Amino acid sequence: MERKGILLVVSGFSGAGKGTLMKSLVKAYDNYALSISMTTRTPREGEEEGKAYFFVEEKEFLEKIKEEKVIEYAKYCGNYYGTPKEYVENMLHQGKDVILEIEIQGALKVKKQYPDALLLFVMPPSASELERRLTGRGTETKEVIHQRMLRAVEEAEGIEAYDYILINDQLEDCVKELHNLVMAAHNTPERNQEFINNIRKELKSLSKGE
Ligand code: 5GP
Repeated sequence: MERKGILLVVSGFSGAGKGTLMKSLVKAYDNYALSISMTTRTPREGEEEGKAYFFVEEKEFLEKIKEEKVIEYAKYCGNYYGTPKEYVENMLHQGKDVILEIEIQGALKVKKQYPDALLLFVMPPSASELERRLTGRGTETKEVIHQRMLRAVEEAEGIEAYDYILINDQLEDCVKELHNLVMAAHNTPERNQEFINNIRKELKSLSKGE
């Protein structure tokens, strides 16, 4: 049976550790492909073009939207972010489980277009731990940290739209838990309809003595 990739949408408060979690997941298992988004935000120190993001000017970003080359896009803390369509579709066809690390507005748009996408929300063990992680990064100004905490308050209201929450306390445990969720999702009846239908047919013909 052909393996169909799952579109995995991962959201979570800024500072919840999604980026590290995704990198570790992709490193540990070979069934994943990580989609690289486009953004108009300026690169943080150490972020490479085409690895963290494709960094573009607003004009180019808006052109890609017009040309329908993005699955979804959203404005987050004053910058645009969007998911390029071609890579995602190619990888899904190749049977890869494709990860989109995107915020909540985008996640909901993806769910509309791809109803069998799996939506996961990554959370820190506590709110104070989130603040500690954001401050500890050392790459963000106080003002930006404050903006992101406010944004977390808003995003926390939307968590019930997700299929699962994932608490990122110990990274290694969280990676395993995430992988287990995806493996389990591959075994839902909806994702195996063809297999089920074939078995049904075979059962019927065998039971008739054919
Ligand atoms: P950051 O600036 O911290 O890298 O990302 C800010 C937020 O934008 C994060 O919540 C991240 O998941 C989200 N984001 C990154 N890429 C995309 C995208 O392509 N679409 C949407 N909707 N959100 C994204």
